[in-house]
Amino acid sequence: MPLYCENCMKLVEGPSCPRCRNRKLRNVAPGDFCQVADVHYMQAEMLKELFADNDIPCTERSALGAGITVNLGVNVGTVRLYVPYDRLDFAKELYDVYFNSPEAPDPAPDPAPERELLVGHVYRHFKGGLYRVEDVAKHSETLEEYVVYRKLYGDRSLWIRPKEMFLSPVDREKYPDAMQEYRFEPYDGEETGESE
Ligand SMILES: [Zn+2]
Repeated sequence: MPLYCENCMKLVEGPSCPRCRNRKLRNVAPGDFCQVADVHYMQAEMLKELFADNDIPCTERSALGAGITVNLGVNVGTVRLYVPYDRLDFAKELYDVYFNSPEAPDPAPDPAPERELLVGHVYRHFKGGLYRVEDVAKHSETLEEYVVYRKLYGDRSLWIRPKEMFLSPVDREKYPDAMQEYRFEPYDGEETGESE
């Protein structure tokens, strides 16, 4: 049985997910949605029809980040398609036939690299404090994603912050001397519990 990363909805080889470094992998179940491919949104529409014609349930996410499709009401850029694990091989066959046929459009270019949030990982704030990312939560009214993270010093309190902001660069105008490019960066050193 292959292992499955719930964060990425992807089959991975252990012990951790190469994309998000999640270590809480589990055996894949037949109904788990797994990533088939990243395709241009025009091709995604055609593939979704093809899957539907073959009774393969399909779901999608914008490769630019969750929420973009919802917010704009239209698909933009690259789309990630997912099908249940027990239909994955069949879906990949259909995908190959579709893209290897002479009238198939050019495959989508690689999506722009995005910063992945590493759930369970320790991050260093640019002012020096260490925090562990506990999880990602969704705002009930706006559906915006928030990072839930714990201070690893002082009162070890639990905080939330919009995910987009969490992954954003340091404001260079406000903090020209910051030693990090990003507000929070993954930290691999000792957890000393130092404060800011
Ligand atoms: Zn992952």
